[in-house]
Amino acid sequence: MERTADVIIIGGGAIGLSTAYHLTKRKVKTIVIEKNYLTSGSTGRCIGGVRQQYATPTTIKIAMESVDFFKCAEEELGLDVEWYAGGYLFLAFTEDEEKTFKKAIEIQQRNGLDVSFISADECFKIVPMMYAPGLRGGAYCPSDGQADPFKVCYGFAKRIRENGGRIISSSEVVEIRTKGNKVHSVITNNGEEFFADVVVNAAGPWAKDLCRLVGLDVPIEPERHEAMITERVARLWDPMLVDYRPDGSYFYQRVTGQIIGCYTPDPNVPGIRTDSSLEFFFEMPRRMSNLVPALSQVSVLRHWAGCYSMTPDGSPIVDETEIEGFFIAGGMCGHGFMFSPAIGEHLANYIVEKDWGLPWDEFKLTREFKGKEALR
Ligand SMILES: Cc1cc2nc3c(=O)[nH]c(=O)nc-3n(C[C@H](O)[C@H](O)[C@H](O)COP(=O)(O)OP(=O)(O)OC[C@H]3O[C@@H](n4cnc5c(N)ncnc54)[C@H](O)[C@@H]3O)c2cc1C
Repeated sequence: MERTADVIIIGGGAIGLSTAYHLTKRKVKTIVIEKNYLTSGSTGRCIGGVRQQYATPTTIKIAMESVDFFKCAEEELGLDVEWYAGGYLFLAFTEDEEKTFKKAIEIQQRNGLDVSFISADECFKIVPMMYAPGLRGGAYCPSDGQADPFKVCYGFAKRIRENGGRIISSSEVVEIRTKGNKVHSVITNNGEEFFADVVVNAAGPWAKDLCRLVGLDVPIEPERHEAMITERVARLWDPMLVDYRPDGSYFYQRVTGQIIGCYTPDPNVPGIRTDSSLEFFFEMPRRMSNLVPALSQVSVLRHWAGCYSMTPDGSPIVDETEIEGFFIAGGMCGHGFMFSPAIGEHLANYIVEKDWGLPWDEFKLTREFKGKEALR
């Protein structure tokens, strides 16, 4: 078995697979090592929302490039990934929310995004069955959308193999060896050693643990988020509804008919946890039906939990570390699926050409982590 590659990627989630896909497309010899099975981490637990409405320029660009990829994914990956541009509608109930959305819209429009602040009446035209007394309007981007995380990842994996890359599942990286200040090899729990000059830590919620293997501390903290999906129903409305009120939530109708959604727990639930709570099981349907009363008639099929990997400022860390050749692509803060196409492409570019292709300060490991992404 070939044990030497140009690049080893640790982690078979959306970020690791996208990076490997873009590397193998450039004929870079790549091995992906996944401790469990592909999508077994956060990616297989995400709800597939894809938006471009962010508040900082590089993040907006990354999200827009990712949408360009999702639009062509069927051709690019040879698989229907259930891309559907249903839009995202951020609902403004307070003056502060309206101001925050309008400020972000200015930056988004400057970066070429088709987004606008629409009146409450226009919101109700788009989602007629919504019950939202006090609604002031909303930030609406019709080109945001949804895709199936499993299909996207299987598409990446298919292409990685076709391009000559290797994917090794059920192998956990337990040691990362360096020589001098350079990365040298990784050892798995099966005792196998794999060699490469470049190793990418794309281990999602486990990224911090992997960094510790080489004595690095990175500000990435996993926390539990839960999600819920209903039975299939006839088409009700298109956009993801984002309601930031204290008992708000975010949910949308999948192209296949189910309603799927989450809310952000307060206080947060730290740690790598995938246990789902009774509280969420009762609370999520209540919150969804408050905003769309017709949903009280729809049955819940399943609910589950996974992790967001949070950084102090709400932006990812995608950078080479102080150990030469050892990269981190983590801390996706709940946005890693939608960012994966463009993050993977820029990281692959950097590995090959030493050029990020975009201003990259927002994602550097050495930044000050001040401030906060306004549209969390
Ligand atoms: C409920 C919920 C809803 C979400 N909704 C959305 C959404 O709508 N849109 C969106 O963009 N994002 C969403 N997210 C966030 C998204 O799921 C993550 O940001 C994204 O999946 C991160 O991908 P990743 O590849 O970085 O990590 P992961 O998918 O976690 O992949 C990391 C992989 O590394 C493997 N691994 C870890 N340690 C090792 C090791 N030592 N050796 C080998 N392999 C290892 C793991 O097994 C795992 O498969 C949601 C998350 C949750 C929990």
